[in-house]
Amino acid sequence: VTLLGVAWLAIACAPPDSDLISIGGSTMGTTYTVKLRAMPRSLSPEALAAQIARRLERVERLLSTYDPDSELSRFNRSPSTDWFEVSPDTATVVAAARAISERSDGAFDVTVGALVNLWGFGPGGRTAAVPDAAAIEAARALTGYRHLAVRLEPPALKKADARLYVDLSSIGDGFGVDRIADLLDRAGIRDYLVEIGGELRARGLNPDGLPWRVGIERPGMPPAVQRVVALDGLALSTSGDYRNYFEQDGVRYSHVIDPGTGRPVAHDTASVTVVHARAMIADGWSTALLVLGLPRGLALAEEAGLAALFLVRDGDGYEEQASAAFESLPSPGAPRGATGAERPTGRRSNRYQDFK
Ligand code: FAD
Repeated sequence: VTLLGVAWLAIACAPPDSDLISIGGSTMGTTYTVKLRAMPRSLSPEALAAQIARRLERVERLLSTYDPDSELSRFNRSPSTDWFEVSPDTATVVAAARAISERSDGAFDVTVGALVNLWGFGPGGRTAAVPDAAAIEAARALTGYRHLAVRLEPPALKKADARLYVDLSSIGDGFGVDRIADLLDRAGIRDYLVEIGGELRARGLNPDGLPWRVGIERPGMPPAVQRVVALDGLALSTSGDYRNYFEQDGVRYSHVIDPGTGRPVAHDTASVTVVHARAMIADGWSTALLVLGLPRGLALAEEAGLAALFLVRDGDGYEEQASAAFESLPSPGAPRGATGAERPTGRRSNRYQDFK
């Protein structure tokens, strides 16, 4: 498959009055969009699109558990418990995921893969039924971030038990967003919005000369906008239990697993949004805080100084609770209407709307 054949690639120049340049495609089982206010003279949209596709392909080749030949899959399969050399990028992402695992006391666990796969949310696809207690205990015995060591110099990973299965799905999309933002920064592009499957990072201004503004979804039919956040040099990630799940006997089983119980989270917190300078960190923490739910998640967000918004089910509606850092985010001003032009949809996308 050619490079550009892997990614569905669309370079759409928006109507001349808006000057919006939009590049998009498929990656990591979802879609991505990059919006720019202007192109630098030295670069064509086609050349930039090819560079972006190449970067995302590389992230997949390193971090995907869906690719049996990725660096991470080779580590997961390796029978060795010695240091296993990896690329600096893989070591960086695993180190960040391990740090969040430790800080959240294992609510987030970078080695949760055996449980994710058992519940049918991994590369093996959906399971027919809820696993039995013995299978859950067996998979739980194979998880534990303390059994994973990471070294940055020289970059390498080491597992205490050869069966440990590292899963970076909760943080890898965010890393991809950061890699694209780095590419744009280095190309001298100052005004952009980058999005992969609902993980976002933006800088500068939109074509109307205003900060990029994104709406946080309030789930429901139809979904509504709970809050609008302005992103200038910031990333936003939402983790929810309402988009990727299966139901059995009237019970909903979400793809976010509580490593403590070995079961999908089951509490009233429906989603957590985190805003942070780096998309990878926002991505990991939104999952960690969703596992914790209220009140523990909010207490940890306050302690760690994280900007986090919790949406909690309350009868037929939702209540929100925000950390102090979230309330201190720059005011977005009043939205003047959604463009909705490239709103991601599908089961893995946290929906958002961008506001001009
Ligand atoms: P998030 O809340 O960000 O993450 C939830 C995911 O994290 C779960 O699905 C699970 O994998 C994991 N998780 C669950 N509980 C925990 C926990 N307690 N601690 C830590 N992690 C937990 N999907 C495909 O269908 N096809 C692909 O080809 C594919 N390729 C990918 C390649 C890469 C490099 C990456 C990073 C992901 C890929 N994915 C693929 C997965 C997909 O892109 C999403 O990452 C995934 O579905 C969850 O993302 P989310 O934003 O919906 O949820």
